[in-house]
Amino acid sequence: MKSKRKKCQKWHFFVTLYGTNKMMPQNVKTSNARNYQRELDKILEQVTMTQRLFLHSCCAPCSSYVLEYLRRYFEITVFYYNPNISADEEYQKRVAEQKRLIEAYNKLPDSGYPIAVMEGDYEPKAFYAIAKGLEQCPEGGERCFACYELRLRKTAELARQLEYDYFTTTLTISPLKNAAKLNEIGERLSEEYQIAWLPSDFKKKNGYKRSIELSAEYGLYRQNYCGCVYSREQRTSNQKEQGQIRREL
Ligand code: SF4
Repeated sequence: MKSKRKKCQKWHFFVTLYGTNKMMPQNVKTSNARNYQRELDKILEQVTMTQRLFLHSCCAPCSSYVLEYLRRYFEITVFYYNPNISADEEYQKRVAEQKRLIEAYNKLPDSGYPIAVMEGDYEPKAFYAIAKGLEQCPEGGERCFACYELRLRKTAELARQLEYDYFTTTLTISPLKNAAKLNEIGERLSEEYQIAWLPSDFKKKNGYKRSIELSAEYGLYRQNYCGCVYSREQRTSNQKEQGQIRREL
């Protein structure tokens, strides 16, 4: 518990130092940063039409571009496993949107393989167990890394059991998510479960922009907070602060 708090404090220091989420360390470019999009391109050049991808999805809007892009290459099963989402009603809303989008995509003529969907268990207790001691971490910090791992671990485990060729996640499309950390976790789990990880940084090639266009086209519900109760509280308090500043101006 103590070490978790220390890690969280370290992130508070970075947030103070860098000021905004935009400038948080995960988004600071270094000269030796890996280009995950280029790595993905290389794999896609070699993919044969029979390979199967087990794709963890956080929500319909983030999956919209990823599915449009990858279904030309893979037989995809979308795995909706997000025990981090608070509360139950919000979870149901997001999962329903995910299924609705897949249904719509499957009706499109000649746009790729049919997409399957699998809903994981909604088990908030699993999320609160990994978030214990990290409740105060700002979004983008250690709590989020643990949250990524919780969801990716289950994805890797099932992908292995069900004999998929690859596993990956839609999460790298978000500018608020740490793509390097997600790929690092994915690669570690790939070793552990002996299942290939598909590297990605889906926001590249205008992926994030395209997800916004597709969300508008399909009228998708776009939530205004990441998912957990802490991110919801953070968003509410940011909105209150902004309202206060506006009133004072
Ligand atoms: S802010 Fe998002 S990624 Fe971070 S812990 Fe909460 S739900 Fe998970």
